[in-house]
Amino acid sequence: AMSASDEVQKAADAAKTVGDGSSPTIFDKIVSGEIPSNKIHDDELCIAFRDVNPQAPVHFLVIPKNRDGLTQLSKAREDQKALLGHLMYVAQELGQKECPGGFRIVINDGKDGAQSVYHLHLHVMGGRSMQWPPG
Ligand code: 5GP
Repeated sequence: AMSASDEVQKAADAAKTVGDGSSPTIFDKIVSGEIPSNKIHDDELCIAFRDVNPQAPVHFLVIPKNRDGLTQLSKAREDQKALLGHLMYVAQELGQKECPGGFRIVINDGKDGAQSVYHLHLHVMGGRSMQWPPG
């Protein structure tokens, strides 16, 4: 049987295989159901699911179903502003529900932002007192 850390390593390896937006990301496979996930939200534009390697008692990701060029936030187009707003709105709705005392939303962008999966995603973390500054 695979240990939790094997699963984490496998996810990390798979995540590193893309970046130019040409091939399906591990998150495309989560959207399609090819890779299982612990989903907590599903609507016409996005899904939210728990992070496989949580950095807080509550840690989930909100992602657009259709990547459509959104490999990372800095690739956003003007016509995607409404989608970006929707992702943030869903993130705070779920964040409030799961973390009534407050939560943190993070988007890692690019190499220096420590992004590993090139399919836009909002991290929502909480369930403990978060520290500042982050590393
Ligand atoms: P990034 O570093 O790109 O901002 O965040 C990618 C996140 O996706 C990481 O927190 C990582 O744990 C998570 N992740 C990577 N692969 C998978 C997976 O297959 N399933 C789930 N649930 N999370 C994943």
